[in-house]
Amino acid sequence: MTAASRLLAARTVVAGGRAGPGWVELAGDRIAHVGTGPPPRTPDVDLGDAVLVPGFVDVHVHGGAGAAFPDGDVDAAATAIRFHRAHGTTTMLASLVSAGAGELLKAVDALAELVTDGELAGVHLEGPWLATARCGAHDPDQLREPDPGELDRLLRAGDGAVRMVTLAPELPGGVDAVRRIVDAGVVAALGHTDATYALTREAIAAGARMGTHLFNAMAPVHHREPGPAVALLEDPRAPSSW
Ligand SMILES: [Zn+2]
Repeated sequence: MTAASRLLAARTVVAGGRAGPGWVELAGDRIAHVGTGPPPRTPDVDLGDAVLVPGFVDVHVHGGAGAAFPDGDVDAAATAIRFHRAHGTTTMLASLVSAGAGELLKAVDALAELVTDGELAGVHLEGPWLATARCGAHDPDQLREPDPGELDRLLRAGDGAVRMVTLAPELPGGVDAVRRIVDAGVVAALGHTDATYALTREAIAAGARMGTHLFNAMAPVHHREPGPAVALLEDPRAPSSW
């Protein structure tokens, strides 16, 4: 890419929604200007009918192209990252799955190299502090109650590579774990959970800020017990993934 490049496309997606024809001007590896309508100068690249969108952000992905982030293999992880990048995802967290403490630490330490290099935005620990009754694809034998020592070791691993933790707040010590995660500057997400509406609100008050695959692997909505999905949906502090 030359020092400055101007891209033109028939359709663009900009802050606030879809727009008609538009352009992007690059300065090195940075976006310098974005505009709608005809570009102020002749474009270097005309993308024709293509839709020009900002890079996708994926906060929950376990791998791709046959490679799995939980394996903690840097080369395999790089293959998965390249695969998603080719399809428009420019920012992603590497999601792990419930596993033994040693295995999780090893994976976080290995993937930290890709976080430092800017290839990954961080690591997402999905478990192991999840509800057995809502385990979904997680191995129920790997699920356990939050242990402050284990949690702290994982939050410190890889120079702070962990950026999000999904947990079930109703487990003993669950809400305390939310506080510990938030105090470390990490996003606490609620998922694979049987938490009540009230307990979910308590976890949000403690700093939880995400719902993980909302409705999926959580207590359903009941007329006398709205459950976690309703508590997450009605609180603007807690956007949710689907
Ligand atoms: Zn899940």
